[in-house]
Amino acid sequence: MLQEALNEYCCDFHIHSCLSPCADITMTPGVMGQRLKELGVDWIAIADHNSTMNVRAFKKHLEKEGIKVIPGIEVHSVDDVHVLGYFEDLNDAEGFSRWLYGKIPDLSVDQEVFGYQLFVDADDQLTGIEEKWLGQPVSLKTAEVVDSLKEAGALPVYAHVDRSMGLVYQLGNIDSDSYPIDIEVAFKGNYDKYEDCNLYNVWHSSDSHSPDMLGITMRILCETRSLEKLIEAVHSCDMERKKIIWA
Ligand SMILES: [Zn+2]
Ligand SMILES: [Zn+2]
Repeated sequence: MLQEALNEYCCDFHIHSCLSPCADITMTPGVMGQRLKELGVDWIAIADHNSTMNVRAFKKHLEKEGIKVIPGIEVHSVDDVHVLGYFEDLNDAEGFSRWLYGKIPDLSVDQEVFGYQLFVDADDQLTGIEEKWLGQPVSLKTAEVVDSLKEAGALPVYAHVDRSMGLVYQLGNIDSDSYPIDIEVAFKGNYDKYEDCNLYNVWHSSDSHSPDMLGITMRILCETRSLEKLIEAVHSCDMERKKIIWA
């Protein structure tokens, strides 16, 4: 009976917008929306470096197109570890971003060299430029990033643990007081290390910085597109609920 109530969603929960300095300036709501529709992706998260302040525009545009958007962020800790945070509520995500802004060193860089940081509206119009460089670490240790995300009501997920700026790659191991923990695995070849669902809740996403990088990276079986139901599916040891699509 339960199976009948479940729907399959095509997902990608790590996508950068044109606000991230390393992302293409074409990562706007309109361009991204068109590409996601072509690919059949219907559930995503926008996760810019150290900011959630473009999510509102993407959510407004993409949800009109039938693509559900989870407000996300990718925080860069002072230990050079990237941690994703997924929020149920957009206002909570923006509140966290405003708080985090005070933890970003007051450093601006030449955006022609280091990449533009563009705020846009739901109609792809430029509304502003972020002057503080978002590509730098905030003044929080990795554990403090995780704790602050939890306090703000977000789910922390260690980003691409198996490559540069990932927990294992940077610090050599996973040292946690409580298991299972949420980790994003970048490469199929490393997945067998993290297959034990009692220890790891594995996510896999594209970490797209340009429209051509987008794709379906997980197929999720759940009742509705809410973060609560998503977490339930990803945390389930039932592999039918979460199919990883490796690139
Ligand atoms: Zn990253
Ligand atoms: Zn990223």
